[in-house]
Amino acid sequence: MTLIVQKYGGTSVGTVERIREVARKVSEAAKDNRVVIVLSAMAGETDRLIGLAKQLSDRVNSREYSVLVSTGEQVSVALLCIALHERGLRARSMTAYQLGIQTDEQHKNARIVQFDKQQLVQCIEQGEIPIVAGFQGVNTQGDVATLGRGGSDTTAVAVATALNADECQIYTDVDGVYTADPRVVPSARRLSHISMEEMLELSSLGAKVLQPRAVEFAGKYQVPLRVLSSFKPGPGTLITFEGNKMEQPIVAGVAYNRNEAKFTIRGVPDTPGVAHDILGPISAAKIDIDMIIQNVGADGSTDFTFTVHRDEVVRGQELLRAIGDKLGAREISINDKIAKISLVGVGMRSHAGVASTMFKALGEEGINIQLISTSEIKISVVVDEKYLELGVRTLHSAFELDSDPSEEFDPAEHSY
Ligand code: ASP
Ligand code: MG
Repeated sequence: MTLIVQKYGGTSVGTVERIREVARKVSEAAKDNRVVIVLSAMAGETDRLIGLAKQLSDRVNSREYSVLVSTGEQVSVALLCIALHERGLRARSMTAYQLGIQTDEQHKNARIVQFDKQQLVQCIEQGEIPIVAGFQGVNTQGDVATLGRGGSDTTAVAVATALNADECQIYTDVDGVYTADPRVVPSARRLSHISMEEMLELSSLGAKVLQPRAVEFAGKYQVPLRVLSSFKPGPGTLITFEGNKMEQPIVAGVAYNRNEAKFTIRGVPDTPGVAHDILGPISAAKIDIDMIIQNVGADGSTDFTFTVHRDEVVRGQELLRAIGDKLGAREISINDKIAKISLVGVGMRSHAGVASTMFKALGEEGINIQLISTSEIKISVVVDEKYLELGVRTLHSAFELDSDPSEEFDPAEHSY
């Protein structure tokens, strides 16, 4: 018998009616398969809990943060079990502590390091359907840890890996992975499959459909992943490992993110070691840096620009002021009205000129590019936030990703 791990996201379990519907789907799947279910918290619950904490403090302790937000998943797993019991199925909710989902020492963005499948196997052997609380783990201090926003995806992949599942199905509110966010580009198309490499880039660059860490994990352990809708039947998108033998489109998709802010420090000495003087303290404070640019120097001084997550603007600014004082910088500026737009595709490897097509298309729309970064299978640009939608749509059509208008995405069919 095949073993399937199904993960249901927040909107799929957002109301009691929807939980009942998930119970129906689970009982359907359990007829011919062994199933293990992983859940997110009910839609909006994690944000609500974070909001409560923020009303009390703007420096929420990360241990207590995780104790608080991990409760959302405990509610949903219990409710689903209750709904399954009503259907006459045997199901048992399980927390990370019960399952021994061991993480590193972090509380908040913890990584799973070990997972003993014994409890799950026992539960299945006793004829019960395990309903696993996603997003949580137990860290090296024995405390409740959480796996970062969207972390239930990673729980699902970890469960699938431990059990060597035949497929890990991620049920969400869209019916697969699209060539671009359909809310921004109505002519975006669902991809029937996408390579793991492309998926990893797309999710790291802002496509919200899967947590990047989950994709990384699935890639490492070769877990077959599929993204499906909880609301609409269909095959979804399969994430594949092998390079597809058929001709690859140059660009698989366009991703965007508006979570970054840009820091510029001007007039610092153009001497060896200065990059480290600036960026060293930023990384030491565990602030992730994304793009970095050092301008050409003139008169023995130079300018640096880099981007960080918008949540880190306050901390980053404090640090950069101190760094600037130390180095005698002329000026420090921050811009958080930026957006990053990226093209992703393994086909880029064998095609020259992708960058120039991209820059030309943006230029023709009068969109100024502030920063550029490239890798083998992606090109990202930072532009003014007000051009985000236009930029994404422009690139989507410049690379011929638009669907036939008759198949256009209808936002009314989807709830977000
Ligand atoms: N409930 C958590 C969040 O909203 C984890 C998840 O949904 O995957 O981030
Ligand atoms: Mg999610």
